[in-house]
Amino acid sequence: MNYAERDLKSVWHPYTQIKRNALPINIVKGDQTLLIDENGNKFIDAISSWWVNTHGHANPYIAQKVSEQLFELEHVIFAGFTHPNAIILAERLLSHLPKNHDKVFYSDNGSTAVEVAIKIALQYWNNQGIKKTKIIAFKNAYHGDTFGSMSVSGRSVFTNAFESLLFDVEFIETPMKGKENETIEALELALKNEDVAAFIFEPLVQGAAGMIMYEPEILNKLISICKSKNVLTIADEVMTGFYRTGKFFATDFIEEKPDLFCLSKGLTGGTMAFGVTTSTNKIFEAFISDDKTKTLYHGHSYTANPVACAAALASMDLYEKPELLNNVNRIIKKHESFKTKIQNSELLKNVRQTGTILVFELNTGESTNYLNDIRDRIYNFFIEKKIIIRPLGNIFYLIPPYCITNEELDYVYDSILEFLSFLENESSN
Ligand SMILES: *Cc1c(COP(=O)(O)O)cnc(C)c1O
Repeated sequence: MNYAERDLKSVWHPYTQIKRNALPINIVKGDQTLLIDENGNKFIDAISSWWVNTHGHANPYIAQKVSEQLFELEHVIFAGFTHPNAIILAERLLSHLPKNHDKVFYSDNGSTAVEVAIKIALQYWNNQGIKKTKIIAFKNAYHGDTFGSMSVSGRSVFTNAFESLLFDVEFIETPMKGKENETIEALELALKNEDVAAFIFEPLVQGAAGMIMYEPEILNKLISICKSKNVLTIADEVMTGFYRTGKFFATDFIEEKPDLFCLSKGLTGGTMAFGVTTSTNKIFEAFISDDKTKTLYHGHSYTANPVACAAALASMDLYEKPELLNNVNRIIKKHESFKTKIQNSELLKNVRQTGTILVFELNTGESTNYLNDIRDRIYNFFIEKKIIIRPLGNIFYLIPPYCITNEELDYVYDSILEFLSFLENESSN
């Protein structure tokens, strides 16, 4: 039995229907933008391996720093103890966050970063004896797969089986171009109830819903409305953080500053699972008390793991290098010119871009559907071309590591053109 067959016997994969599953591709090595399988096939990773890998695979600088850390300290309980990496990383993250942010809480991944933000927001009001327990979110939101983060995510095929067990959330329409007023009205209506604790959102790009994009101005407006009603705002920057949108954070495009941030994916550049929730001092102060019940009783065994912190610090070193932003801007420009070239194709609708994320939506005549069969055909076409993309139904997108070369990008763009002419030929035959 080869590895792929052994895998089928013993491994349960995420987001994968077992019955229709093709044999998984066994990757044995990474090198910058490339993932290399056991037969030596080299795949261009055009989606940063589920949106996490920003600095390229097996990055030697991160590998060196992680390896050094392993010989110093691999783990320490994070209650009653601390360690330099956790402190330095908090300071460095805060230097990129809005000035009102003062505290960093560590956890394990994007879902836990969201869980922590929700719990902090709810307990913030509870600690003050104020009855605010309702959360507002966007209908198309995706905030993770644990029960709390699922609850604040839009109801979809991902949440169907658990729907009756998810807590009640007030969903408002994602602001669409020309229909921004509907979202504002929905928010204002929801805020008529005094019991709203927080508003959570993915700034500018809603990832898992199909890379839905909206404008900074409307987000700014929504946050300012929440602030005027004394409602906390939670920016889930798990996907958008670390230059994905062209700036360090997507919320750097707006004036208003959210009260809580959730970070994960790009934090370690795809090296280790890690999550961060940041908060203002004002929120933090509501947890300081002689009354022990006001403590934030949340933590994970691996909270602030020193090796994960080392990976994040090495990743931060790379984010702070001038080359990094040059690369981001280079990708943005390349995407823009390809977008101009392709956007009038009749096979596509709503070609869209925010920063390094470029999105194509096949005009299938049906509405967007994650379970759409076209998905497998798109996926397989690009795998044949040795390009990894992962469509969401009829939507596919590029969200590459920042080290992707111009030649690699051109090859990916050319393959997309080829895919479109393949579809065209097929429909005319
Ligand atoms: C991926 C994602 C999450 C969940 O992160 P995990 O590390 O997969 O748990 C949460 N929010 C957003 C916006 C995401 O894209």
